[in-house]
Amino acid sequence: MNIIEKINEKFPSDLTVEDIEDKYPPRPEGQIVTRIAPSPTGMMHIGSVYAALISERVAHMQDGVFILRIEDTDTKREVEGATDIIINGLKNFGIEADEGAISRTEETGDYGPYTQSQRRDIYIAYIKKLIEQGDAYPCFCTPEEIDDIREKQTKQGMRTGYYGDWAKYRNAPKEIIQENIDNDKPFVIRLKSSGKHFNKRMFEDVLKGKRNLPENDSDVVIMKATGLPTYHFAHAVDDHLMGTTHVIRGDEWLSSLPLHVQLFETLGWTPPHFAHISPIEIMDDGNRRKLSKRKDPEASVTFYEEKGYAKEAVIEYLMNLANSTFEAFRVENPDKSVWEFPFDLQKMGRSGALLDLVKLDSMSRDYIGRLSAEEVYAQLADWASLMDRDLYERMQANKEYFINIFKIERENVERVRKDFVNWSTIWGEIDYFFDDVFPPIDGYVEKETELSSDVVKGFISDFIESYDDTADNETWFATMKDLAITHKFAKNGKLYKKEPENYNGTIADAAKILRVALTGKAQTPDLYSMMQTMGKERVVERLKLSL
Ligand code: GLU
Repeated sequence: MNIIEKINEKFPSDLTVEDIEDKYPPRPEGQIVTRIAPSPTGMMHIGSVYAALISERVAHMQDGVFILRIEDTDTKREVEGATDIIINGLKNFGIEADEGAISRTEETGDYGPYTQSQRRDIYIAYIKKLIEQGDAYPCFCTPEEIDDIREKQTKQGMRTGYYGDWAKYRNAPKEIIQENIDNDKPFVIRLKSSGKHFNKRMFEDVLKGKRNLPENDSDVVIMKATGLPTYHFAHAVDDHLMGTTHVIRGDEWLSSLPLHVQLFETLGWTPPHFAHISPIEIMDDGNRRKLSKRKDPEASVTFYEEKGYAKEAVIEYLMNLANSTFEAFRVENPDKSVWEFPFDLQKMGRSGALLDLVKLDSMSRDYIGRLSAEEVYAQLADWASLMDRDLYERMQANKEYFINIFKIERENVERVRKDFVNWSTIWGEIDYFFDDVFPPIDGYVEKETELSSDVVKGFISDFIESYDDTADNETWFATMKDLAITHKFAKNGKLYKKEPENYNGTIADAAKILRVALTGKAQTPDLYSMMQTMGKERVVERLKLSL
């Protein structure tokens, strides 16, 4: 039995390379095809969303195809449910794949399966082809032997790896190989590398430019003992068969480029274009460093979900990290969707983009500021249904009231009020509209306004008498102003400054009495609009609490 027969025995399949090539015909000439190829290892990194967004844009800006491929060949690292986290995560961010996994069990597209563990027979067909070509061979080294090689190399100050004379089974005598096959010894399949480490070769990366890198001389494992391929091999096979034209991925893979190009070439294929994205960085104690899965909560998309950043706001922010021209686009096109921005891969910076949460906050404020009151309600309710059930239930029970609160300084105003940073902060900004939360504290109005109890109470009780909630803003203000004047508040600041001893303050101070009495806060949105939203009954009741 030779090694091919051994593979057939262990991993039976009749699938041939010819069958496969027939099944996956080349894509139409000139069509752009990109993909995101995450591994289901648990958390979803914001960097994956960033790479997915860039890949999706490159395809969809040019009527191309964007694929979602699940790279689950590393079964040791796989985490239950992680595939759904990826699929739903991307969908939630509005990043839609044309082909690929839709759920753990469903997929769409003609170039599948799109989950690597379901493609084993495909890889095996190519593994056998490489063995027949003389470009791959079995290696029977035990893990201990591999460790031993590494130790020896380290001791001798040499580069570690399975290459050159260290590649024990590369040139092993036929009889030894046969003996191992006959004894059913576990094996992996390795690439017989033709590269020379001292040879440098120029690689062209779409983002990094020309890179002079040493050829790969390592006989890397391409098929594991389980019959599953390694990432490197699966990447070459899949991206060839799926017709990927642009591999856009994190630059941690840049050093593997010589190996990947070698694999494509050994298989007889033209490599796709590669674009290696610099990682997202953060400032740590004055130094820039890569966002870390372990150290930084903001590396995970759950951070943004929990804080309640609108998905679209996060996408806008990532778009801005990718192309700094996005900001100008947003200013010029306040009503356009982020998906209308003319993203340009060439305009991405070569070095890492810096994650700046203050900037994200400001973009998020702007985003919420552009929504209608009804949209704020709907998106907040969606978020609260998952993250804050009390708020969600309160919203269900008081839908109109909430929408009216969101209308304040949002509709019919020149500049929309931007006090909502993200969904998780909204409740804290509006809770005083609700009677069970509004806490009247004895003497609070006097303290906050620095006015005597007589002045406060006198003004409030007359205001209650005169309050007409059907009056328009101007009329209401004129009435309030007249009333304030009779309560010895100066018409304007100038008058007050001249003779402060004769006044209790200005009209603004009188308004402050009402504001504090109604909300318990010195800073609030427009007083008239708030009173309209609260309704006369609530306004009067609250004012009476300060008498
Ligand atoms: N599965 C690899 C990862 O999660 C994908 C790398 C690639 O895009 O080629 O890093």
